[in-house]
Amino acid sequence: MSLEKFSQETVLSVHRWTNNLFSFTMTRPAHFKFSAGQFARIGIMVGEELVVRAYSVVSSPFDETLEFFSIVVPDGAFTSNLQHLQVGDQLYLEKVAYGYLTLARYQKPLPQDLWLLATGTGLAPFLSMLQDFETWKSYQQIRLVYSVRTSAELAYVDRIQDIYDTFAEGHSDFKFIPVITREPDAQLHERLPVLIANGELERVAELKMDVNTTHVMLCGNPEMVEDTKEALKAKGLIMNRRGEGNISVENYW
Ligand SMILES: Cc1cc2nc3c(=O)[nH]c(=O)nc-3n(C[C@H](O)[C@H](O)[C@H](O)COP(=O)(O)OP(=O)(O)OC[C@H]3O[C@@H](n4cnc5c(N)ncnc54)[C@H](O)[C@@H]3O)c2cc1C
Repeated sequence: MSLEKFSQETVLSVHRWTNNLFSFTMTRPAHFKFSAGQFARIGIMVGEELVVRAYSVVSSPFDETLEFFSIVVPDGAFTSNLQHLQVGDQLYLEKVAYGYLTLARYQKPLPQDLWLLATGTGLAPFLSMLQDFETWKSYQQIRLVYSVRTSAELAYVDRIQDIYDTFAEGHSDFKFIPVITREPDAQLHERLPVLIANGELERVAELKMDVNTTHVMLCGNPEMVEDTKEALKAKGLIMNRRGEGNISVENYW
């Protein structure tokens, strides 16, 4: 892979949430522009080889640094190396950002409700969107649904509150809804497709999903994305194509 497509950036901070989840920030070169929801391609040198992976940007497009939220995959070519990251380390960053999981993909006029449904690190693009004032101005009701296996994996909960306090500017109809699939005592603990099909998610969200009023974005585990898409379609929602339709998705593998 040609190194010319990349700039070299410095790691500024590392935060470890659990043994297999961490976040990091790095310098942002002036040429690196992105829209909330897009992903960067990050590289690390493993021996002589540059190993590159896609990473959704957590930061807002207006931030001076770039933040990312990462899984550690045991034996993963990228993350088994990335997990040892330390402040001051150098990473490669491809000069352009990619991806269509952005609010710009929806044609205006926008409907009133935005649902952001994430599993695990699939939360990242939604944190970026929620740090954009435009998101809060564009939708009357916003629901952020974050599905993890255990409560220890519920990263960023305090930051979500901070983001709301900073960016919502009086927006009064936002709900953060955690789903914890391996903890039967959690208020919501079934998989997202089940919670959609049986109406539980709408009940807890105090909001109906409707073909005329809803935009819904899905991000993370491809099995969740696929099954959730089907559950949404069964409710009459349709895939977004060329700006029209309710559902847009991003698979992480
Ligand atoms: C558009 C896009 C955006 C992405 N954004 C992020 C992000 O913000 N944060 C992030 O951690 N990953 C993200 N990924 C996944 C990331 O690119 C890598 O797959 C991940 O870093 C693991 O790399 P690896 O080489 O260690 O393992 P890989 O060989 O890439 O993956 C091995 C296996 O690990 C599992 N896996 C991969 N990624 C994840 C994950 N995120 N969560 C749980 N299991 C996973 C899958 O079973 C996969 O088959 C994104 C992928 C895409 C396509």
